[in-house]
Amino acid sequence: KMSRLLDIKTLAGFDFSFQPSLDRNRILTLAQLDFIDRHEVVHFLGQPGCGKTHLAIALGVEAVKAGRSVYFTTLADLVSSLSKAEREGSLRERIRFLCRPQLLVVDEIGYLPVIAGGGNLFFQLVNARYERGAMILTSNRGFSEWSEVFGDTVVATALLDRLLHHAVVVRIEGASYRLRRHADLIPDP
Ligand code: ADP
Ligand code: MG
Repeated sequence: KMSRLLDIKTLAGFDFSFQPSLDRNRILTLAQLDFIDRHEVVHFLGQPGCGKTHLAIALGVEAVKAGRSVYFTTLADLVSSLSKAEREGSLRERIRFLCRPQLLVVDEIGYLPVIAGGGNLFFQLVNARYERGAMILTSNRGFSEWSEVFGDTVVATALLDRLLHHAVVVRIEGASYRLRRHADLIPDP
């Protein structure tokens, strides 16, 4: 996880010309950080390699530069830390800890199936932060697939109710930056 944190991604290092579907001004507006003060949720949606994690980290870097507190995690790590805290009887403390940062980035929703009970634990955190702290979420799956991702329709519906109420949804339609030199491998949309 350290290597990921040290792999600093910046807005300056993001090539907007590679993602013409992405509105550069929308990202630059997000970089003004008003969404943090309004306790909003920013969703980056798109296929693997389209730049979701890069943009999430870059906005996190802007927030840190502006003196905001930021915590970065993946959904899998977050759920496993909540699950461990629950087993150890310290779930409330863990949730309180995760409510402290002004911006919580939860990366990689949808790549791995969430462990049993994980959606419920994530919901408890989301509910605790609801209208109190900002989040950036990234996912390669559409909202309609969240029942599948979380293995639970009731929990997915409750999560989306909170996470779409004060939300900014940024859909990145473009291809993988990782595969940019292998255009022949990328299927036509
Ligand atoms: P995702 O999280 O959507 O799977 P990433 O943000 O990890 O994709 O991007 C994959 C790699 O490509 C990273 O090294 C990232 O820095 C780089 N990358 C993606 N999009 C761009 C872009 N438009 N300009 C510069 N680098 C990019
Ligand atoms: Mg990613």
